[in-house]
Amino acid sequence: MKFIIIGGDAAGMSAAMQIVRNSSGHSITVLEKGGIYSYGQCGLPYVIGGKINSTDKVIARTQQEFKEKYNIDARVFHEVKSIDSEQKLVMGIDHSTGESFELSFDRLLIATGASPVIPKWEGSSLQGIFTLKTIPDTEEILDYLYKGFRDVQEVTIIGGGYIGIEMAESFVEIGKSVTIIERNNQLVKIFDKELSDLIHDEAKRHKITLKLGESVEGFIGDGQVEYVRTDKAEIKTDLVLVAVGVKPNTAFSKDAGIVTGVKGAIQVNSYMQTNVEDIFAAGDCATQYHRIKERDDYIPLGTHANKQGQIAGLNMVNLHKTFKGVVGTSIIKFFDLTLGRTGLSEKEAEGLNMPVSSVTIQARNIAGYYPDAKKMTVKLVYHKENHKLLGGQIIGESGVDKRIDVLATALFHSMTIEDLLDLDLAYAPPYNSVWDPIQQAARKAT
Ligand SMILES: Cc1cc2nc3c(=O)[nH]c(=O)nc-3n(C[C@H](O)[C@H](O)[C@H](O)COP(=O)(O)OP(=O)(O)OC[C@H]3O[C@@H](n4cnc5c(N)ncnc54)[C@H](O)[C@@H]3O)c2cc1C
Repeated sequence: MKFIIIGGDAAGMSAAMQIVRNSSGHSITVLEKGGIYSYGQCGLPYVIGGKINSTDKVIARTQQEFKEKYNIDARVFHEVKSIDSEQKLVMGIDHSTGESFELSFDRLLIATGASPVIPKWEGSSLQGIFTLKTIPDTEEILDYLYKGFRDVQEVTIIGGGYIGIEMAESFVEIGKSVTIIERNNQLVKIFDKELSDLIHDEAKRHKITLKLGESVEGFIGDGQVEYVRTDKAEIKTDLVLVAVGVKPNTAFSKDAGIVTGVKGAIQVNSYMQTNVEDIFAAGDCATQYHRIKERDDYIPLGTHANKQGQIAGLNMVNLHKTFKGVVGTSIIKFFDLTLGRTGLSEKEAEGLNMPVSSVTIQARNIAGYYPDAKKMTVKLVYHKENHKLLGGQIIGESGVDKRIDVLATALFHSMTIEDLLDLDLAYAPPYNSVWDPIQQAARKAT
């Protein structure tokens, strides 16, 4: 069979590797519009912040490796422009030669990811305004910072989501003065307001200026950006990072009759199949089934892209496996804090008209009498009537990661608040209290 994969990163190459490992005698061609394969975008903020000293370090496997070691026809600068689903053809341009190409397939995977959005703001084409998605984006930001285009002191970040705050930390780490503009009245709105207040305090502790409830209208400058104009002020700036969200790269697939769903992402079933036979989709360009909402959603994350890609690859070679869905788990480092969340926030659950209760507690990550015990805030959101856990949010300096993963597992298996109390969790004073903080919260709830 002839397999074609569009997109050479997390989802696309996870699929390619499953095809290689689980079948033989097929041809696999990967069409990647950029020049780099398989890299961890998640590491890019830390390259800018100097914790990782080169973008090379985030590359998992090179184009060459895929070609030589795995016999994958991995092409670069090949951008797909359209698909003919009846004739089973993909058409596009090879940017290295400027020539067009047309290739036939038996099975196709669309793994084209998502692109950062820049709203139609006046002055967006000024120099010094960036988004962060790829290694070339990272190199451009580093060049602007260090190659003498300008003495960058003041950085403005537009958007207080997870990329916005990770980048705020990175810019502070390299000595910049940072302002975050966020049109909502809180940063990281996947947390409920009382928890995001802890994030605001941490930002202020690191001298980040927060402009909440403020909307960007445009940029002012002469060649280079000098001010961000909002509905309330003009903010002087040397560099702007726009991190207001992403949209799935699906424009080229519309004419092929491939149905899109939530937020324009390609609608897939649990086998990663689209509505068109023999065409699959996975990762940031596709929908994900949300187990708590019990419907499709769009949560573009690396964890989902790797899983969905792997499952697509298996199904493409008829080894049937289903994607079991997501529960909405994520974790973010913000200076000394770890921010973990899973499931639904209270606000989200209310928005879905669920009868919801919640409990918030403060606890210690380890036995209170043991040195260096740190405070953490735990919020559990649960169904008022059947007590099923609906979500959890934890913010603290240490031990957040393991608790949020326990909650994610509990959610995955539809556990109740009472069930949490029955869990046999690890305890010794340097690691926990005899009742884990999530059990302390569950006890308060019951
Ligand atoms: C700064 C940053 C930090 C992140 N941090 C985290 C994190 O901590 N945890 C987490 O889970 N996720 C994180 N993510 C998200 C994660 O990186 C993405 O979810 C993941 O990369 C998606 O993988 P993908 O393969 O679906 O898409 P992508 O990685 O976007 O890959 C899609 C590929 O398709 C190519 N392509 C697009 N259109 C075409 C076309 N027409 N023709 C040919 N090729 C095309 C693109 O060039 C790209 O290489 C982060 C993302 C960023 C940008």
